[in-house]
Amino acid sequence: MRIHTGMTIAAACFATCASAAPSLVAVQCGQLLDTQAGKLLGETTVVIDGKRITQVVAGRQAPAGATVIDLAGQTCLPGLIDSHTHLTSQTSPTGYSDQFRWNIADYAIRSTNYARVTLMAGFTTVRNLGDRDNTSISLRNAINAGVIPGPRIFSAGKAVGSTGGHADDSDGYRADLMADYGPKDGIINSAADAWKAVRQHYKDGADLIKIMPSGGVLDESKSADNAQMTIEEIKAVVAAAHDYEMTVAAHAHGAEAIRRAVIGGVDSIEHGTYMNEEDMKLMKEHGTFYVPTIIAGKYVEGKAKVPGYFPPQVAAKAAAIGPLIQGTAGRAYKAGVKIAFGTDAAVYPHGDNAKEFGYMVEAGMPPLAAIQAATTQAAALLKQEKDLGSISAGKFADLVAVPGNPLADINLMTKVSFVMKEGVVYKQDSKAQAFVASADEGIAPRDVDYGL
Ligand SMILES: [Zn+2]
Repeated sequence: MRIHTGMTIAAACFATCASAAPSLVAVQCGQLLDTQAGKLLGETTVVIDGKRITQVVAGRQAPAGATVIDLAGQTCLPGLIDSHTHLTSQTSPTGYSDQFRWNIADYAIRSTNYARVTLMAGFTTVRNLGDRDNTSISLRNAINAGVIPGPRIFSAGKAVGSTGGHADDSDGYRADLMADYGPKDGIINSAADAWKAVRQHYKDGADLIKIMPSGGVLDESKSADNAQMTIEEIKAVVAAAHDYEMTVAAHAHGAEAIRRAVIGGVDSIEHGTYMNEEDMKLMKEHGTFYVPTIIAGKYVEGKAKVPGYFPPQVAAKAAAIGPLIQGTAGRAYKAGVKIAFGTDAAVYPHGDNAKEFGYMVEAGMPPLAAIQAATTQAAALLKQEKDLGSISAGKFADLVAVPGNPLADINLMTKVSFVMKEGVVYKQDSKAQAFVASADEGIAPRDVDYGL
């Protein structure tokens, strides 16, 4: 891409430097994927004023006073949305022992790097489904304040589950290091606990709630798929979350846990490994989204074969669950279950998120459906359709580009060359742009209404 000639160096910087966006910009796209209509358009110009798109017009246009960004030969897509990330940690052969050596700050500092590489991969929005110590809420606030570059984060804070379950961080420790966590830490054992936990999350500044109604692969307990929450507990979480306009995402591998979560009213099932026909039928009836995270299954399947990478019990679970998720995703798509794109980033290295597109297509999804899963569908799951998911007038100016037609070659999604978020260019010609941190760090941790 080129910045049009005739501009001063300073003006060019306005078009390219992250965090210094000019007000009027015209992005001339070689092609543009209309994710709402499901159509690939030819040359199209996207006109942006500040943080939002004001116009999408056919051909190469240059409105008076606009800074032009020329993306000839590139296909523009809406900023991608990963519905399942964990931006505050990352897989490592020392991951389990690091927990005993690292402080919160060690994780927090690394999270700024994970956020940056996620944005550079074209993911301008993520749903962060679980952290420790609410670090992803602080990460979100720092990104929103312009202190560091990163995707727009909708954070679930700490995950909610039962004692000894997938959300219990002291599973597998020796007895004197185990903790008896309660609702304040996201551990619940009754409907009353569920209300307390959700209200605490609201107080902590979470945007949504993540629950763990089934066992999981990477915790040090026996089962990856047993049911770990009652329907009453799940219903209480959902009712409490709805009081605070929060959605609920449910990690669930086992069929019974999926059934309970769907009946309990959650918005999405994550992983869904052993999803059966009854579960799929229920999900269609309830309008529940499925977020497969195929890449996470493949990655842990591979690492389970590396001696010592995981503790033995984890390796056994990874070897059993990992190879199954892609098949489940294919069956669910065929059955007509709504699918949103999500990857479980952290279980594999951050920045490789877009590999999921290829795995979704391998599973039987058409490339367009896979891209819609990361745009229109993911925006619907977030209940942010007004702002995200397509390149349309009125929405946030979140735009990425790939060098060619991704409907013909889905692997182009791993070659994002241009990234704009809220009108600010973070990547251009496949290169990260200089980021200038905001000096204004006065943003409150969350919106607080001090009025009546
Ligand atoms: Zn996860």
